Amino acid sequence: MKVIDREEVRSRLTYEVCIPLVRQAMIAFSRGETRQLLRSIIPLADGRMFGIMPGALGERGLFGAKLISVFPDNFAKGIQSHQGVVVLFDGQSGAPLCLAHAGEITAIRTAAASAVATDVLARPGADRMAILGYGEQAATHLRAISQVRRLRGVAIWGRNPDRAAVFASAMARETGIEVVASDSAEMAVEGADIVCTVTSASEPILFGRWLAPGTHVNLVGSSFAGPAEADIELVAGSRFIADSREGVLAQGAEFLRAKAAGRVDDSHVVGEIGQVLDGTLQGRQSDEQITVYKSLGHVVQDLAAAGALYEGAA
Ligand code: NDP
Repeated sequence: MKVIDREEVRSRLTYEVCIPLVRQAMIAFSRGETRQLLRSIIPLADGRMFGIMPGALGERGLFGAKLISVFPDNFAKGIQSHQGVVVLFDGQSGAPLCLAHAGEITAIRTAAASAVATDVLARPGADRMAILGYGEQAATHLRAISQVRRLRGVAIWGRNPDRAAVFASAMARETGIEVVASDSAEMAVEGADIVCTVTSASEPILFGRWLAPGTHVNLVGSSFAGPAEADIELVAGSRFIADSREGVLAQGAEFLRAKAAGRVDDSHVVGEIGQVLDGTLQGRQSDEQITVYKSLGHVVQDLAAAGALYEGAA
């Protein structure tokens, strides 16, 4: 069995490779060409979790699962908060083919999926972005989204201003984009065309009343029916598109809070990003509309990435 370690994933799974892979995977998913179960999560002690995500890709017959631990407290220790393996099986023989580093795949494929969504949902001229959070996903989101829009400025907010400043200057050096730390989340999103929430916050850090008309929002940090990064106003006031509609109806915390408050019903999740990409669902309907891409993260993204790495396509 082949083992693909973190370094290899990082060097081969570039955004040029991963963005089209994820785009195709989400189209196949929304066409019903893939098979998967809803993500299962086993809660561990101290807010830690173990996630189990099985699935099968239609076209190549590959199947497998991502097994991933989520230890949010690792961030303060400088260790990845998401660690695990993607195990890939051969659709012809049933044999396991490879184990790939799930932490690195998750970091890259999640941001690639947000880039795909941003590409179709943000206004064409969107060039100012705010990122709430300065962890691993913050870095990968900046790298990925700068592939689909020519960013002129990026504002970073996080709970610790010193960490935000260090992160901003490191990302500015790396990307050549003007990246600055903001004193508050509200200041960060002021004037932003694109907003990404990539924190482990359990209560809203982003409020609909802060957003200018026409903003596109990627809600990424909450991946189960518990923590919510955005308030009910933001959900209710937006065109709300899911990675997986079934997943978001069951596990999308921001949506579920708005539904429990009686502000929206299931029809508010108008569809999936794969449908928008496939041209069967309209994405943004006007320049003034607020659009939301709700990302829970999907195993087809992990399997597509691991498959490309295994087959040498990445
Ligand atoms: P990291 O552990 O690398 O970073 C976590 C970030 O959240 C840090 O900036 C941390 O900063 C911040 N944070 C933690 N608590 C709070 C809070 N209460 N308010 C504001 N900021 C907070 O995680 P990742 O970057 O890997 O992931 C970010 C989030 O995205 C996680 O919740 C993760 O589970 C989720 N995720 C979602 C995926 C998807 O597919 N949708 C895939 C992968 C991750 P500080 O503690 O200093 O405030």
